[in-house]
Amino acid sequence: MRNSGKQPAAFLDRDGTIIKAVPYIKDPSLVEVPAAVLSGLQQLRAAGFLLILISNQSGIARGYFTEQEMLAVHRRMCELLAEGGITLDGYYYCPHAVTPGSCNCRKPLTGMLEKACRDFAIDRQHSAMFGDSDCDMQLAANFNIPGLLLFDERNAANPQLATQVCRDFQEAAEWLLQYAGRWP
Ligand SMILES: [Mg+2]
Ligand SMILES: [Zn+2]
Repeated sequence: MRNSGKQPAAFLDRDGTIIKAVPYIKDPSLVEVPAAVLSGLQQLRAAGFLLILISNQSGIARGYFTEQEMLAVHRRMCELLAEGGITLDGYYYCPHAVTPGSCNCRKPLTGMLEKACRDFAIDRQHSAMFGDSDCDMQLAANFNIPGLLLFDERNAANPQLATQVCRDFQEAAEWLLQYAGRWP
């Protein structure tokens, strides 16, 4: 779409963003992808965005679920996305503990985004982070890209950390597409 040969990326939180929030989900039958997520992803894809998941999964280090269980949830999510014609380009997760200093990838640290930028030809300047929590918005700020917050009263995220507060994924996708329309 642009001359650089690079594509912008929509960096996507998983839990509470692409799938409905279920704390420390490990049962694939509980995975739900809202319709607003499918339609938003379709629009982003059509506009040339890479779709890259960026997920903290400390439940592995905490012993709440195994990596295999986490991946089973991931596969179910991918099935539901595929039914909507969506395939993700990349998937990064941090399995480490919350202890500060234990890794450089746990959001809001930027390790996973840096890895994605090494793995794909990403137009970083025109990318954005979608998420439902403070760590996602702080990650966006740390990486100097817009942070689009899917906000509802239950998730109690701090709207002030966000570039834009959105009612749902569709609205966030539309914000990014409008923003993309203003690129020089
Ligand atoms: Mg989340
Ligand atoms: Zn990590």
